[in-house]
Amino acid sequence: MKAAVWYARGDVRVEEVPEPPSPPPGQVKVKVAWCGLCGTDLHEYLGGPLYIPADAPHPLTGVKAPVILGHEMSGEVVEVGNGVTRFKVGDRVALCPIIGCLQCTWCQSGLMGLCPNIAFLGVSWTGGGFAQYVNVYEYMCYRLPPEVSYEVGALVEPFAAVYRAMKQANIQPGETVAVVGAGPIGLMGIQAARVQGAGRVIAIEPAARRQELAHRCGATIVVDPMRQDALTAVRDLTEGAGADVVLESAGIEATGILAGRIARRKGRIVVMGVFERPAPFDYTDLVYGEKVVMGSMGGYGLFDEAIQVMASNAFNGEALITGKIKLDDILEGFNTLIRHKEEHAKILVSPA
Ligand SMILES: [Zn+2]
Ligand SMILES: [Zn+2]
Repeated sequence: MKAAVWYARGDVRVEEVPEPPSPPPGQVKVKVAWCGLCGTDLHEYLGGPLYIPADAPHPLTGVKAPVILGHEMSGEVVEVGNGVTRFKVGDRVALCPIIGCLQCTWCQSGLMGLCPNIAFLGVSWTGGGFAQYVNVYEYMCYRLPPEVSYEVGALVEPFAAVYRAMKQANIQPGETVAVVGAGPIGLMGIQAARVQGAGRVIAIEPAARRQELAHRCGATIVVDPMRQDALTAVRDLTEGAGADVVLESAGIEATGILAGRIARRKGRIVVMGVFERPAPFDYTDLVYGEKVVMGSMGGYGLFDEAIQVMASNAFNGEALITGKIKLDDILEGFNTLIRHKEEHAKILVSPA
């Protein structure tokens, strides 16, 4: 079968690899429908290895580079291993990429995303979504209802992650949420905030195309930080108070500082942006305003709920998918995101 394989930094190859065998006990074989290109894939391609085990085998899975990439995928179950009870051949599924040890206190308390030995589909697993087939554990699969297309199914993983991040902020009805950065995570954050009861969503984004997408995703107001001071703009919109909840999804120095400052006193700041190195923060403002900063990683535990939202009219998948490409063209897809990221939200890849 065909797959996109990470060998080293700057070296990703589309090549023929053996198709996975019949799934071992507890696993199912999935025929990939669509898989989203993610910022994490780009980081691994340009600056990796970050999470890919390149020098030593992964402690939980024993996997070592070269690895097949891709972790935001949907597909159809085509074979089930012994002991699989919840899925059958023909089921349409989205995958949670998290593989836990199932034994530590985090795994046992429903927080598998915090497992110290965590492994990921498409990073430290035997396969990934940028391939025609992959074997995965039954517990990684979530059923897609008929209203959710395979295309939207490939958005389940990132949406569940944002949906969970916003849940951690505990949005109260009518509150004002500010979203810093309107890339894929920010755009999904706008939708998640609305579903969870936000009265207003203020998006802060410099790129024109993404500003337009932010409006389509339900942002009440879009602030262009190149044209006006974003802190002043948010204060003007909130009678000087600041936003109740802030989602940081850009992951650069300036946006980290901004996200903290635009939160009101006692406001909650959720950080999802992937910072390449430790970054400064306005700690005095944090102390004086008694603000709460939290990180959020992955959507484990909320996949079914996120899928329900995605099956409803409250979710706009069309505004999030800005490109569809073939697996053969995945390097072009990487380059498009490297050069023209601001023109895109999600690019989906089909191995068909
Ligand atoms: Zn991702
Ligand atoms: Zn664990």
